[in-house]
Amino acid sequence: MCLSIEVNDMATAVYPGSFDPVTLGHMDIIERTARMFDHVIIGVLQNNSKTPLFSVEERVNMIKSITSHLENIEVRSFDGLLVDFVHQCRADVIVRGLRAITDFEYELQMAQTNRVIAPEIDTIFLTTNLKYSYLSSSIVKEIAEYEGDISEFLHPVIAARVREKLEERRRLT
Ligand code: ADP
Repeated sequence: MCLSIEVNDMATAVYPGSFDPVTLGHMDIIERTARMFDHVIIGVLQNNSKTPLFSVEERVNMIKSITSHLENIEVRSFDGLLVDFVHQCRADVIVRGLRAITDFEYELQMAQTNRVIAPEIDTIFLTTNLKYSYLSSSIVKEIAEYEGDISEFLHPVIAARVREKLEERRRLT
C-alpha cells in the first residue's frame, strides 16, 4: 500500500532571526537543523527595532545564495509575532541557537512567552559550535566598519556584500 504524505505530516522547523548579515555561526545552526528536520524555514525578521545594515530582501537573498546546496531549506521574511509566522508555515518547532549564558535569559523568556501564547509550538535550542561561540552579526559589522578582516566569520559571498554595502554607505556620507 502506498501512503501519500501531506505537507502537515512533515516535521517542519522555523529558524528565526535578524541575520544582518548571516554569519558562519548561523550557517552552522542552519546545516545542523536541515539534518534534523524534513523542512526548515529560515524566517528573516523585518521589523527590527535597530536599523539594519541590509534590507530584509537583501538579507533573504543573501541567505538563499549560500544555502542553495541544502534542498530542504526555504527562506522567507516575516514581521509581527513569531508564533503567527510559525502557524503560517505550518510548523510546530522553533529553533534558536545558544552561544553563551548571556543568550540564555532572553531566549528562555522568549520561549516561555511563546509557549503561553501558542502551547502547541515548542522551542528547541542548539548550542553553538565552539568555533563560533563568540560570533555575532553586530561584532562582524563593527570589525567591518573599521575595515578589519571579516573573512573568518562570513561566507566569502556575504563578506563581499558587507564590504560593498559599507563602501556604498561611505560614498553617500
Ligand atoms: P536575533 O536578533 O533574533 O537574535 P540573530 O540573527 O542575531 O537574530 O540570531 C538568530 C539566532 O541565531 C539566535 O537564536 C541566535 O542566538 C543564533 N545565533 C547567532 N549567532 C550564533 C552563533 N555564532 N552560533 C550559534 N547561534 C547563533
